[in-house]
Amino acid sequence: MKYDYDLFVIGAGSGGVRAARIASLAGAKVAIAEEYRIGGTCVVRGCVPKKFLVYGAEFSQMLADAPGYGWTVGSATFDWPTLRDNVQKEVARLSGIYATNIAKAGVTTFEERAEVVDAHTVRLTKSGSELTAERILIATGGRPYLPEGLPGVELGITSNEAFLLDKLPERVLIVGGGYVALEFANIFHGLGSKVRVLHRGDKLLRGFDEDLRAHMHIEVERSGVQLTMKATLTKLEKVGGAIRATLSTGEKVDTDCVLFAIGRDPYTAGLGLDRAGVKLDDEGAVIVDEFSRSCVESIYAIGDVTNRMNLTPVAIRDGHAFANSLYNNLPTPVDHAFVPSAVFGRPPIGSVGLNEVDARRSYERVDIYRTSFRPMRNMISGNQERTLMKIVVDGGSGKLLGVHIAGEDAPEMIQLAAVAVKAGVTKKQWDSTMALHPTAAEELVLMREKIASPGSPA
Ligand SMILES: Cc1cc2nc3c(=O)[nH]c(=O)nc-3n(C[C@H](O)[C@H](O)[C@H](O)COP(=O)(O)OP(=O)(O)OC[C@H]3O[C@@H](n4cnc5c(N)ncnc54)[C@H](O)[C@@H]3O)c2cc1C
Repeated sequence: MKYDYDLFVIGAGSGGVRAARIASLAGAKVAIAEEYRIGGTCVVRGCVPKKFLVYGAEFSQMLADAPGYGWTVGSATFDWPTLRDNVQKEVARLSGIYATNIAKAGVTTFEERAEVVDAHTVRLTKSGSELTAERILIATGGRPYLPEGLPGVELGITSNEAFLLDKLPERVLIVGGGYVALEFANIFHGLGSKVRVLHRGDKLLRGFDEDLRAHMHIEVERSGVQLTMKATLTKLEKVGGAIRATLSTGEKVDTDCVLFAIGRDPYTAGLGLDRAGVKLDDEGAVIVDEFSRSCVESIYAIGDVTNRMNLTPVAIRDGHAFANSLYNNLPTPVDHAFVPSAVFGRPPIGSVGLNEVDARRSYERVDIYRTSFRPMRNMISGNQERTLMKIVVDGGSGKLLGVHIAGEDAPEMIQLAAVAVKAGVTKKQWDSTMALHPTAAEELVLMREKIASPGSPA
């Protein structure tokens, strides 16, 4: 054989592992390199540990709701090391399963960093060995962005470190207004920390539907998290045992933990892609076509490093489609339309398809259906949290363009709503489905009145 491998995958995260496994099972000689832990962001320091922490945090609301349902709970206490260590045990178990599965599929694993030398060569940086491959797949994901030049930035942490804290901070200052910021606000607040979110914008959750953004602002504050909008950090310093944060407003905030959740960069720095002639966009993402091929014929890229849609199922689908296209003789472009997404905040969000603003940009007539209510579950507990549901419809064809929910179980509901939206179901067909009573989800098929004009939820 002309090359050491048919395929060399850099990065054993969601996308890389899937691509390596499918290509190897199809008969290709495959190697994969991982510089940190097999499983990648999702398994090790993203979706999976985060969701466990969200589950852990939810108990505080249940405890608060319990007296209304007749329960006397007594004094409940929470032990961070127990939750942290149990989550880490599960993470280690899952990472082990990933490693076993790629080995069983016949993939050779190198547990070290790899860099690109040229269009067909990679270098393993620890051992220094150079290996050749007919194709190289870049699946290096992304990494948290830190504010450059901020004095004292080293006193802050990112989501990477948040899972491993020695102790639960009494006070947390979260910088950012996106989904990772709101999820950690929910986690820390639920576990008992005093949480403040600092965001430079005037609204949370850029990219989500405007009504949802407004709803979340109200509900996050109602939950007890302090929101400070239109402000940034100008300095962090150590004062006694605390971190003192100076805000752009001049205010000084003493806290025990500063968590930066201001976005993620595609992880291409120092990877050597320039040596091979691979083109990157302004944010450092590998530019690829619908088959995930870069401008260099033998180099492909999938998942977060392409910055197309930074979600685990997308990276997995990208990886599978890549392997099918090249090793199973099944050319498969990836369809990134109508991908559902969630925010595991308080309340959680589930969203699929176009928001109202984007729909109005692309369609001549857009019909909006919206409802806001206090779910049954909260009525006798005294919990004031409200649910918002919104449906965006193409007024011409009657087809659903988007469904957006903020409320208990929204992520679970939206997975199924996404099937209907993706299938091109009309509002008439959607409404012909019988309601399932008593649920919150039934309200989704009972929204009959169009909202006359854009506005905020009732
Ligand atoms: C806090 C947080 C919560 C998230 N929650 C969700 C969620 O709820 N749902 C969801 O769908 N998505 C979520 N995501 C996003 C999700 O984790 C990513 O979209 C997904 O992991 C992308 O997969 P990937 O294969 O592209 O990259 P990754 O999973 O990031 O894998 C890339 C791997 O490459 C390795 N690597 C990088 N460079 C090299 C190199 N040069 N040599 C060797 N190895 C290298 C890295 O160590 C890493 O293991 C979350 C992300 C974060 C940070």
